[in-house]
Amino acid sequence: MLILAALAGLTVVSAAVLGFVYLKRRSSDRRLGYLAQYDQLTGLINRTLFQDRLNSAIARARREGGLVTVMFLDIDGFKDVNDRFGHAIGDELLRQISSRLVACLRETDTVARLGGDEFTVILEGGQRVEDAGQVATKILKTIGTPYQIGNREVVITTSIGIAVYPLDGDTYQDLVKGADTAMYQSKAAGRNTYQYFTRALRDRTSDRMAIMEDLRTAIDAGDQLRIEYQPKVDIARGVVVGLEALIRWEHPERGRMMPGQFIPLAEESDMIITMSEWLINEACLDMRSWIDKGMRPMRVAVNSSDRLFRDANLVEMIAIALAAADLDPRHFEVEVTERTLTQESERAGRAIERLADMGVKVSIDDFGTGYSSLRQIQSLPIGALKIDDSFVREANRRPESVAIADSIISIARCFDLEVIAEGVETQEELSTMRALGCNRVQGYLVAKPLPSSDVLAFVESYDKTLSFQPVDRAE
Ligand code: C2E
Ligand code: CA
Ligand code: CA
Repeated sequence: MLILAALAGLTVVSAAVLGFVYLKRRSSDRRLGYLAQYDQLTGLINRTLFQDRLNSAIARARREGGLVTVMFLDIDGFKDVNDRFGHAIGDELLRQISSRLVACLRETDTVARLGGDEFTVILEGGQRVEDAGQVATKILKTIGTPYQIGNREVVITTSIGIAVYPLDGDTYQDLVKGADTAMYQSKAAGRNTYQYFTRALRDRTSDRMAIMEDLRTAIDAGDQLRIEYQPKVDIARGVVVGLEALIRWEHPERGRMMPGQFIPLAEESDMIITMSEWLINEACLDMRSWIDKGMRPMRVAVNSSDRLFRDANLVEMIAIALAAADLDPRHFEVEVTERTLTQESERAGRAIERLADMGVKVSIDDFGTGYSSLRQIQSLPIGALKIDDSFVREANRRPESVAIADSIISIARCFDLEVIAEGVETQEELSTMRALGCNRVQGYLVAKPLPSSDVLAFVESYDKTLSFQPVDRAE
C-alpha cells in the first residue's frame, strides 16, 4: 500500500525506473522516498514536496511574520522546442533551466517542477512585496540567455505569475491559484514578463466565474440568447449569397454581450456544445421560415469550435437540426477556423468529409491566420476560404497584407474554391478586394449583422436594387 501510494506521487517514471524501484524496494526505502518527492528529470522537488514546503512556509510566516512569495513559471513555446528538436533536446533544456533557476536563487529559496514545463518558486522571509519583482526580473534574464545543447543554440523565455502571503491569500490553494492566474496574465501580456496577482485580477477571475454561472442559466433557459445574421454578398452579381449566424447574449443585468466576451468561457466547458446545438437548430428553423415566406433559398452558415469535433458529434447534430426544420443540406454551411483544422486535423477532416457527402458546405474561417497546409486544403472537400478581416483591414496600408490576400485568392482559384473577404468596411477595401479578383464580401459596408426579423427585408431589397444578372438558385 505504502509503495503504491508513493508510486502514485511520481510524475515522470520510466518502466526501467519502476522495475528498479520494485527490485530494490526492501533495501532502499530511502530511494523510494526520494522518488516520490523529487522530479526524476531535473532532480528538483516535485508537486508533493512543494505543497509541504509551501504549507510549512505559510505556517512559519503566520508565527513569525514576514512574507511568503509564490511564483509560477511556464516556459513560453516549450511545445515548439519539443516538436522542432525532439524530446531529448526538450528534456536537456528543462535540466539546464532547472540548474539556472537553482543557481540564481538563494539557498533558502525553493524551486520545484510541477510537471511539463511548469516550475514554481517559493521565497521566504522577505519584508517588501517589490523584492519579488526583482527576483522575477533576474529569473527572466537568466532563463532568457541562450542555451547550448549539443551543437544547437536554443533561445527560450518564460512567463511568471506572483502571489504573496498574506496579501493574496493565506492558504496553499489561494496562493497557488493566484500565482497561476497571474502567470496567464503574463502570457496574455505578451510573455517573457512577470505579473503580480492583483485585486483587479481577482475581481476579474470571480467575474469570469459569475459570467460562466449566468451563461449556464441562459443556455438552460434559452430565452436570453439571440442570433444575428450577417449577409454574404456577391458584388459582381449583386446578390446575397448566404447568411452567417452570429450569437448574441442579452444578459439581464450586463446588457448585450458579444461572442468575444463569452464564447471563450463557454469553450472551457461543455456549455459550448449545448449552446452550439441550440444555435444550429435555431438557424435551421429561421432559414426554414424565411424560405416559407418566399425568400430565395440560400445557405445559412454557423461557426464551429474545436470542441464540437473533439467532444460532440457535430455531423449528427447538424443532421438532426436539418431534419427537424425540413431543410435541405444545400442550405447549410459550417465555418471551421484554420486553427481547428490544425489542432483537430484528423477529427475535423473526417467530419468535413461526412458533411460534404451530405451536401453541407464547409468553409475555412479566418484563413491566413493559422497553419493549415495546402495538402489539407487540397485533400478535403472544402467549399470556400474566408480571408481574415485583418488582411482586408490592412490591405490599404501594408503591402504584405495585400500580398497575403492575393495569395489566398490564388490558392482558392488553384483549388477551385470560392473565396470571400470578411470585415470589409470601406469602399477602398472593397475596391482592393475586387481588383485582386475577390467578388464575394461580408462586412459593415454591405451590412452589419441583422436581427433575424430584418433578414427577409434586407435580402429582398438588396437583390432588387443591385441584381442585374440571373440568380443561380443553387447557391
Ligand atoms: P468571425 O466568425 O470571424 O465573425 C466575424 C466577426 O466580425 C463578427 O463579430 C462580425 O460581427 C464582425 N464583423 C463583420 N463585419 C465587420 C466589419 O466590417 N468590421 C468589423 N470590425 N467587424 C465586422 P462577432 O459577432 O462579435 O463574432 C466574433 C467571433 O465570435 C466570430 O468571428 C466567431 O469566431 C465567434 N462566434 C460568433 N458566433 C459564434 C457561434 O455561434 N459559435 C461559435 N463557436 N463562435 C461564434
Ligand atoms: Ca465566421
Ligand atoms: Ca474572422
